[in-house]
This record gives sequence, structure tokens and C-alpha cells, in this order.
Amino acid sequence: MKWSFGLTIMWTGIFILAVLFFVDNTDIMEMTENPFQPEVSAEEIIALNGLHPSVEEKRDRLVRRAGSRGIDIVITEEYRTNEEQEELYAQGRSEPGQVVTSARGGQSYHNYGLAFDFAVLDENGEIHWDTERDGNNSGTSDYREVGEIGKDLGLEWGGDWQGFRDYPHFQQSYGWNISDLQRAEDNL
Ligand SMILES: [Zn+2]
Repeated sequence: MKWSFGLTIMWTGIFILAVLFFVDNTDIMEMTENPFQPEVSAEEIIALNGLHPSVEEKRDRLVRRAGSRGIDIVITEEYRTNEEQEELYAQGRSEPGQVVTSARGGQSYHNYGLAFDFAVLDENGEIHWDTERDGNNSGTSDYREVGEIGKDLGLEWGGDWQGFRDYPHFQQSYGWNISDLQRAEDNL
């Protein structure tokens, strides 16, 4: 009796190990990855001189997933220094051109390596900015479709904003608002 009980325990153990071994856990990882944003300190963010590696990874996945749905995109902007942001802010104000941003230096997530912009390419490989165009005939505009893909990856999409809708823009704040990051930068 004791002996067969031990045998049952042993076979149960072997069975559990086999299941753990053979289950492909990449899908489980894919599913659980998005709701959990990695913990990132403000110090780590302001030390960046480019995109945060995790944002970079999402950018690459976004490009691949959009491509697999027949939407070719290019990345047009990533990290911007505060000086570059000021120059952009001057555009359409003290400098010629159209106003393209309401953020001054240090006021954009681009200045912290937490934002990037994309553009959709047409069949000739040219950038187009028509946010209503549905090039892959999916029933949803290409910009909106890319927006949804990015959101599935856990990114915040500018196309969802009230007021100025920034369709080409994605960001990941890691819970930090701009004033937190500015304060961290001032305390350096
Ligand atoms: Zn942007």
C-alpha cells in the first residue's frame, strides 16, 4: 500500500515536470508581458540619451506587426534633446513654418527617451499623413490600426488624446508625468 502510494506521487511528479517542460510558455509570456510595465526610476530615465531599451523593443515589434498586416511604417522621430525641442517649438512661432508642437524643451516625452513617432508609407514607399486612408483595405484607417497595435503592446497612442490628436505619436510614461521628470532633472 505504502509502496504504491509512493509510486503514485512519483508518477504525478513526473507528469507535472513533463507538462512544464513541453508547454510552450512564449504565448503565456506574451500575454502577461503587457499589463506589467517594468519599474523604471526617474534617474534611469533622465540618464538616457536615446530611446529606453524597452520602448525600443516595442517600436521594433510595432514595425513588424504593422508590416505583417500590410502596413509599412517608418520611424520619423525618437529621442530629442531639450535644445532640439526648443528649435521645434520655435517653428511657426519665432521661426518660419507650421506649428508642430506645443511642448517646449523638457516638456515632451521625446526629451526623455520615452516617445517615438511613425509615418505610414503608401504603395510607392512614400510617406503619407492622411489619417483616414485605409491602404490595406482592412476597414480601419492605417494610422488607427497602427495605433491599436501599439496600444496592444502597452504604449500610449497620441491619436487617443482629446484636443490635439497626435496620430503618429507613441509614448510610454512608466507612470512618470513630465513635472516629475523635470524635477528629477533639476535635482541632478
Ligand atoms: Zn511625438
